[in-house]
Amino acid sequence: MKVGILGATGAVGQKFIRLLQGHLWFEITALGASKRSAGKEYKQAANWIEDVTLPEEIASKTVKMCEPSEFGNVDFVFSGLDSSVAFEIEGAFARAGIPVISNAKNYRMDPTVPLLVPEINPDHISLIDKQTFTGDGSGWIVTNPNCVAVPLSISLKPLHDQFGIDSIALTTMQAVSGAGYPGVASLDILGNVVPYISGEEPKIRPETSKLLGAYSGGSIEELEFKLDATATRVPSINGHMLSVSVKFKNAPSDVSEVVEAYQNWENPIADLSLPFSPEQLYLLHENEYYPQPRLHADFNNGMSLHIGRIRKGEIFDVNFVALAHNTIRGAAGGAVLNAELLVKKGYLKQ
Ligand code: NAP
Repeated sequence: MKVGILGATGAVGQKFIRLLQGHLWFEITALGASKRSAGKEYKQAANWIEDVTLPEEIASKTVKMCEPSEFGNVDFVFSGLDSSVAFEIEGAFARAGIPVISNAKNYRMDPTVPLLVPEINPDHISLIDKQTFTGDGSGWIVTNPNCVAVPLSISLKPLHDQFGIDSIALTTMQAVSGAGYPGVASLDILGNVVPYISGEEPKIRPETSKLLGAYSGGSIEELEFKLDATATRVPSINGHMLSVSVKFKNAPSDVSEVVEAYQNWENPIADLSLPFSPEQLYLLHENEYYPQPRLHADFNNGMSLHIGRIRKGEIFDVNFVALAHNTIRGAAGGAVLNAELLVKKGYLKQ
């Protein structure tokens, strides 16, 4: 399938380019960014920050304006657009009959737009049928969640299914790549921790409630629970770490039940054999010093979720840490997995 990338020059856009090299089903045929970049060769427009060589066929491609007429005959687009422009541009592509698989926040909470993590809520995909961007259903938008809601919802899913979530206290330790490129000034973050990320905390509870919500009769009944979150920026490069404390409706009597909940979890998309689906979604660490962003974020091509330090609490029932690669599982890799599911479910066609 022919694929375009909106926001191709940014941190997430570059990750798309890297991850899609050699993909079995998808081939990049169009790259778009702002008018600052449009008209230039990609190698001049982007400051390539991936640690592999920029593929020659991408380097020499001319970056286009993010307009549907500029993208030729693409079958769909991935979006890594800045949220200040994503609403308008993604809407224009959907209205032009070009499906959009987005990382931006703008459409995530739209009641007709799936906020999708294939292993967690694959049934939410049917929301697409409610969208009215085009009369014939050819143009639609699917989003993936914020890079904290992704590891949080994945880490909570087996526990919620078994024990029922009541309330959560969360502290995040978010890598600098989560701020895009050029992102946080080095003088602000080197040897430092910044205890606030603008706009981050208010997204976490609503997105997780939608992700863990039940699909029924064409809409999502969001999961109700309480959450206090503190989002911090730390000087790791990739991999967001979460410290999670959970109170359950039916608390497990022992932490071994929590471990078993992860071990016994059945992956609802296992039988689809999607190329980006990790062989093992949950990697449980017994070593109390693990997981660590530098050591573990890239495991299984960055698509697994790491859980460690599972322990009983005095205030909450269970405490643990979770880690996921923010620009792969939390952004571009998650979006590629969404696209693969959309192919298998017949929404994406050549
Ligand atoms: P970024 O590095 O700042 O990249 C932003 C991209 O948007 C660039 O390609 C930029 O093109 C393009 N852009 C900006 N203004 C534009 C305009 N007026 N018209 C067309 N294109 C325009 O940001 P990022 O970290 O890649 O994030 C991209 C999106 O993904 C954001 O919505 C972000 O919230 C979301 N996200 C990021 C992460 C992460 O870990 N980084 C995780 C999940 C979700 P130019 O280079 O031409 O300016």
